[in-house]
Amino acid sequence: MNIGLFGGTFDPIHKGHIALARAAQERFHLARIYFVPADVPPHKQRQPLTPYFHRYAMVALATMGNKAFVPSLLEAPNTVPIEEKRGKGQQKEPALVRPNYSIDTVRRLKHSLKKSDRLFFLIGVDAFDEIAKWHEAEALFHACEFIVASRPGYSLADLANALPRSLRPSEAVTKPFAKQPAKGDLALNGVTVHLLDNVHQRVSATAIRKAIAEKRSLKKFVDPQVEEYIKKMGLDKS
Ligand code: ATP
Repeated sequence: MNIGLFGGTFDPIHKGHIALARAAQERFHLARIYFVPADVPPHKQRQPLTPYFHRYAMVALATMGNKAFVPSLLEAPNTVPIEEKRGKGQQKEPALVRPNYSIDTVRRLKHSLKKSDRLFFLIGVDAFDEIAKWHEAEALFHACEFIVASRPGYSLADLANALPRSLRPSEAVTKPFAKQPAKGDLALNGVTVHLLDNVHQRVSATAIRKAIAEKRSLKKFVDPQVEEYIKKMGLDKS
């Protein structure tokens, strides 16, 4: 079976996320896509987030109606081992929660999959741009195939250059692709990146939070049930 894993902060989940998942589902015949909101997203630890359970609830609402879309608790609070950091000469410093690294989640999910299953990691090109900085990025590429939603302005060379250093082809190899739009597949050094073009929608959670602050309608950004949840729970007031 082909399985997708789609992680994010989902603060909130929006139509861009759903469009990406739907396109990946169709093109790669994904029998299941796990939507995994992160309790502690590694790259957003300094910004205030809507509490995990609200973000999870909105993911659950937005994934209803598509049998293959599964809201996942893989990165729920207290599912990640706690790392204790002890300073020199100090008895004990406060325990630090390990952020939700995708490689940990992929490894955990793989325990429940069959050997014959193919795991695809769904991601937008903006996030993919930073992937070389992710925790154990190389291992992540070896653990699953990637499906990247590209958008106009990105070339195949940009995608190849975003790979972790050890997987990145030389400039001589990527240069000829600098003008080729990011579409098709990249198969390099044992890793596979599939590109989905024409799925990126002009919506982001940041734009939605701004619309909420400005008391604008969320209709064009989120599904009606998500908008209703935001209002019911007063998430538009905090
Ligand atoms: P924020 O604006 O707060 O950074 P976001 O809208 O990018 O949030 P995330 O939850 O951080 O949402 O993103 C989860 C994943 O979805 C990432 O891989 C991101 O690149 C991708 N993504 C986000 N928005 C879109 C979009 N409009 N089209 C396709 N992919 C998207």
